Amino acid sequence: MPQSAEKALDHAPLFCEPEYRQMLAEKKLNFERPHPEKVVSDQREFTKTWEYREKNLARKALVVNPAKACQPLGAVFAAAGFERTMSFVHGSQGCVAYYRSHLSRHFKEPSSVVSSSMTEDAAVFGGLKNMVDGLANTYKLYNPNMIAVSTTCMAEVIGDDLHGFIENAKSEGSVPRDFDVPFAHTPAFVGSHVDGYDSMVKGVLENFWKGTARNEATATINIIPGFDGFCVGNNRELKRLLDLMQVTYMFIQDASDQFDTPSDGKFRMYDGGTSINDVKAALNAEWTLSLQYYNTRKTLDYCRDVGQAATSFHYPLGVEATDELLMVISEISSREIPEAIRLERGRLIDAMADSQAWLYGKKYAIYGDPDFVYAMARFIMETGGEPTHCLATNGTSAWEDEMKELLASSPFGKNAQVWPGKDLWALRSLLFTEPVDLLIGNSYGKYLERDTGTPLVRLMFPIFDRHHHHRFPLMGYQGGLRLLTSILDKIFDNLDRETMHAGVTDYSYDLTR
Ligand code: SF4
Repeated sequence: MPQSAEKALDHAPLFCEPEYRQMLAEKKLNFERPHPEKVVSDQREFTKTWEYREKNLARKALVVNPAKACQPLGAVFAAAGFERTMSFVHGSQGCVAYYRSHLSRHFKEPSSVVSSSMTEDAAVFGGLKNMVDGLANTYKLYNPNMIAVSTTCMAEVIGDDLHGFIENAKSEGSVPRDFDVPFAHTPAFVGSHVDGYDSMVKGVLENFWKGTARNEATATINIIPGFDGFCVGNNRELKRLLDLMQVTYMFIQDASDQFDTPSDGKFRMYDGGTSINDVKAALNAEWTLSLQYYNTRKTLDYCRDVGQAATSFHYPLGVEATDELLMVISEISSREIPEAIRLERGRLIDAMADSQAWLYGKKYAIYGDPDFVYAMARFIMETGGEPTHCLATNGTSAWEDEMKELLASSPFGKNAQVWPGKDLWALRSLLFTEPVDLLIGNSYGKYLERDTGTPLVRLMFPIFDRHHHHRFPLMGYQGGLRLLTSILDKIFDNLDRETMHAGVTDYSYDLTR
């Protein structure tokens, strides 16, 4: 065999060795009973046609590769943004392994989440006992300040009542009566992770605000970031900007430290996050701003109900959206935007102008969460690009309307199409029939890149197959530079690859671009 202790091969070159190639070919032939290659290739070609596209887009009963995750994942991410908070998911263990692995693979950090480990008996008789035992174990083993409870499909299908179960568990002494156990029902068969995020943040606020009268409003601005795979870079960048403006603010839900712990010999099960005292104090803030509308609809309604002024953005990226964010903050805080930030803005515009020739007229397909797609389409139009396909599996008809309004505001949006509720298999058809220059989304797009040859820029959660992107911001003017560079790098890498054939295409394999 080609593997040896003297020269250990990684799996990729190892499986290219003749012995492995033969073994894999025989496996395919003997165990997969494949169709003849001609049938497969004919079918492959058919899936690239307009005829197949129409069938594919009309598909209703089946979803293939949705660009979304289920509600509890959002709730788990939300809980990670509160100080010493352990996520407790009432339901089956396998689901929780999925949330943990999804977050760990993206952030390259451990993700601590517990489960009530419901199995068949709990599905028949209800999961009360699992809740009672689970909360007791979580409290004793992991020493949290609070336990944030959400649900998987299983608990929702049988109708377990979280409020009643938590009260029962407290009565049985699982946790002290005054211990904080906020909760959110997160039925995974509706909505997506952005709704789970919304429900859990609202659940935490209700846990601390319900029945408490507001004192005189303070000048602090509450900021809710929303579900954000780039929270590590983005939250820190926003804090830097707000500090430069000398604004008094409070992040409600901040997972930037939890998902970026240092290697210094000390394991931190919990790190950073909004403290209980800060959540309580946030009730008195005059304003709550959400950075992502579709992540916080219920939460912001609740903030308004308690008497706060509230508004939201669509994941502000690029020049105009950052301008809007900072101007709103400036207005409600009565703080000037300092010269240092104005200079950053000018530098971003300068960089965009420097690269204009490479960006103008480029066509893009963008997919991901509704706020992200909105934000990215807006930024692409700022660069002179055309967001040809805008797809959000968890996009609603309201999102579709907002997208159309945005796209109609610029000549670069003239030919854009909006695809709410569609999945990545539908996007594959769109890319074959109406090709674009670049694809912007998450790691799952790499299979679209392979199939259709459309270069993928990874700017959306989850990013599993590249490292550390989340540590650098996308928001703010500095984040805009990062966005710009990511897109340009992909354009230049692609151009270099296409022109690097010596003596054939190297008339354009230029040192200077
Ligand atoms: S969709 Fe339901 S079964 Fe699947 S991981 Fe989410 S909660 Fe679990």
